Formats: sequence, structure tokens, C-alpha cells
Amino acid sequence: MKYSDFFVPTQKEKSSEAKIKSHILMIKSGMVRQETSGIYSWLPLGYRVLKKIINVIEKFHETAGINQILMPTIQSAEIWRKSNRYDTYGKEMLRISDRNDKELLYGPTNEEMITVLAKSFIKSYKTLPRYFYHIQSKFRDEIRPRFGVMRAREFLMKDAYSFDIDKKNGEKSYLMFFKLYLKIFKELGINVVPVRALAGEIGGNLSHEFHLIVESGESEIYIDESIISGNKNNYSLEDVMVLNSYTDDFYKTNEIKTKLKKFKSIELGHIFLFGTKYSKSFEFLIDGEKEKFFPYMGSYGIGVSRVPAALIESSIKKDGVVWPKNVSPFDVILLNLSNQNSFVSKFCEDLYLNYKSAGIDILFDDRDERAGVKFSDADLLGIPFVILVGKNYVNNKSVTIINKYLNEEIEIPNNEAEQKIKELIRKKYD
Ligand code: ATP
Ligand code: MG
Repeated sequence: MKYSDFFVPTQKEKSSEAKIKSHILMIKSGMVRQETSGIYSWLPLGYRVLKKIINVIEKFHETAGINQILMPTIQSAEIWRKSNRYDTYGKEMLRISDRNDKELLYGPTNEEMITVLAKSFIKSYKTLPRYFYHIQSKFRDEIRPRFGVMRAREFLMKDAYSFDIDKKNGEKSYLMFFKLYLKIFKELGINVVPVRALAGEIGGNLSHEFHLIVESGESEIYIDESIISGNKNNYSLEDVMVLNSYTDDFYKTNEIKTKLKKFKSIELGHIFLFGTKYSKSFEFLIDGEKEKFFPYMGSYGIGVSRVPAALIESSIKKDGVVWPKNVSPFDVILLNLSNQNSFVSKFCEDLYLNYKSAGIDILFDDRDERAGVKFSDADLLGIPFVILVGKNYVNNKSVTIINKYLNEEIEIPNNEAEQKIKELIRKKYD
């Protein structure tokens, strides 16, 4: 993409509503635009980041054999009455009626719909386990939508659902998702902590939330610090002694509580093994080896549109962001610092085309702007690698490459630049 074609409506004035770094930056760098309270459009820069996040999530789900589908946003009130959630869900649910006065709603989640869908196709135990997921907008009429896309009313969620023969197999599926989530968040460049969200003894339910520890977070979690020290990434269901503040009274005995420390955090994922609650509500019976049974279910959510904001909140850069490689809007940005010089411009043009055909996602700042403007825009965009072409190309056929992860700047012969960039893109920085 050439910068002259790229629509980046950066804002100079800080929005008066924006209170936290991510919200401020997402407005300032033209990533999103609020259409009405808690409802956002994603602009080209923001949408690129969102799509990269979606790609990572899709890649891991595909590998794990989870079927991607797309269920609608609008659901019938009828199925929510059947599960007894229509009345209990309360004011967060946006209720609508169509021209025939049929009661509809904008889905806040999809347990009902997926159960009805699965019931219409799955008839035999032989086809279990089955996993489905979709990435779709949800609507929750939050009392206080705030912090931009962090707590929106319409937001993008990845929700997956598992169907198993029995509890034992359900737990296997749950563990599979638990591990998958750790891998996904690692790939997204987020260091999450899995938090036990339920005591676990009642009805065999299991639940974990995946939190990013950061001072600006709205959640509070209690953690045994020894567990998170050393960037541990191989958590298991058993050794996780990290607790959510509002559940799990069992662990809140004084003895244990003194061992735990309170942290602010952002909830990015939530997994839940709830068993036969919905399969029973919908009389979803499957033929077993001997007798019919209700499939054992779980659901697994990720707050997809919350992730870009969380990444900005946790970025090491004080007032800005350097995107992790797998979610950066572009792999690299090329700055032509001598637009008036036709040699330089020709070289940049060729380099841009070469890199593109080599599969490098490159943004080429070809604008007729001062170097200072180009530097500050590149900074705002948060692309980790920058190539500078200017005087050094004219004088000694060399270019400068900046690696923002390491705050490193190197000058190399121009014919070695492509190889170097490829190396940088492949390299791990965690
Ligand atoms: P929260 O406690 O933040 O309100 P929740 O527990 O109600 O979230 P879940 O039902 O667990 O949310 O939904 C799955 C995921 O969707 C959450 O882990 C979170 O990342 C994301 N999410 C939930 N509500 C919002 C929202 N209003 N805006 C953006 N993302 C959200
Ligand atoms: Mg939750």
C-alpha cells in the first residue's frame, strides 16, 4: 500500500471522552470512529490490525479441527425463552420486533442457537466430539460503555462450542481449548494469565478467564505471584491458583488470601464447561451405544475487538504502540526521505514493488512531506520495522533500518536490505 492511497484520518485534538491510552491512541491514529455510544466503525488502519488478529485465531482453530461457521446476529426470542434466559438476561439484551410483531433480539452470545443448530444435524454419538466456532458481532447494552472498543456495546467476539458424549470427554475438550487459548494469546503477543472463575465442585462446571495484567484494566484478580513470575507460559488446569475476585469463595479463606496479591487486569477470553444445561433445555438427545443421552457442552469466547486495545495498553512504548509482529498493520514501513531526488524515488519505487512481490506487507510513504512528518506518522502507526532511504542512498548506496523492538538502527548496503528485513520479520522477539 502506498501512503498516498492509504486513508489514515489522524486526529490532532484529543477526544474529551478518551481516558485511557488505548482509546486515545486509537482515535488519534484513525483506527476507529465512534458512530454512537459504544458502537464503532473500524477504519483502514484499525481494520488491518483486527484482521491480523482474526487470522491468528482462525489459523489455530483450523489446526485444532474446529469448524468455522457464521451464525446471524439476529436471533428469535423463542429460543431464549426455551432456555429461560430471555427474562433473566435483563436490559443488556437489545430486543427488536419485526413487521409481523415477531420478537427478535441482537445476540449477546450463541449457546441457544448453536444447540438448536447442532440438534438438527447431530444424531449419533459416533460423530462426537464436534467443535464449532464463529467470529461475529455481539450486542450487549452495557450500562457504561467506555474506554472505546474495550467496553463497547457492539463488539466482535470469537465464540466456540463443544459437544461431547459425557463429562469425561467434555473435560478433554475443555483442556484442548485451554491449551489452544494459551497458544493463541502467545502468538498475538499477549502474556495472559488463566484465572479460575468457578470453584468447580457444583455440577462439575469448569470455567477459566484469560486476563492480561495491566494497571488500566477494569477487572481485579488475585494471584499467587510465584505462578506468574518468569513469564510462565505452560500453565495447566491444576496448577493454576489464580483467582477471580468475584468468585470462588472456597479459595478466599484467610489462609490462602494472604498468599495472594491483587492485580488489575483486562479479561480477554472466557471458557466454560457447563455440561447438559442447554442440551436438556432443547431436548437435544443423541443415540448412544446403548441409550440416548444429552451431549455435554462447553463454550469458549475471545473478545476479538478488545484485543487491539489490550495490546496498546500493554505496549512497552509509553504513549504509543509497537505492534507485535503477527498483528502489526504492516510488516514494514518504507520512508522516502528525498522525494525530490529522482534516483531515490526510483529506488524506493522498485524496492516497494520487489518487497510486495516477495510477500512482505509493506507501507510505502511516498508522500511529498517533510521528513519530520513522515517520522512522526510512522511512529504513530507503530509498525515495528522502518526503512529510511535518503542521503545515505545517494552518497553510499546504503539504507537505514530501524528495529523498534530493540531500539536499534543499522545502516546497510541497499542490496542487503531485503534479506535483512526478511530475517527481522522471521525472528522472535519475546
Ligand atoms: P466483562 O466481564 O468484561 O463484561 P463478560 O464476562 O461479560 O466480560 P463473556 O460473556 O465472557 O464477557 O464474553 C467473552 C469475551 O468477550 C470476554 O472475555 C471479553 O473479552 C469480551 N467482551 C465482553 N463484553 C465486552 C464488551 N462490552 N466489549 C468488548 N468486549 C467484550
Ligand atoms: Mg466473562
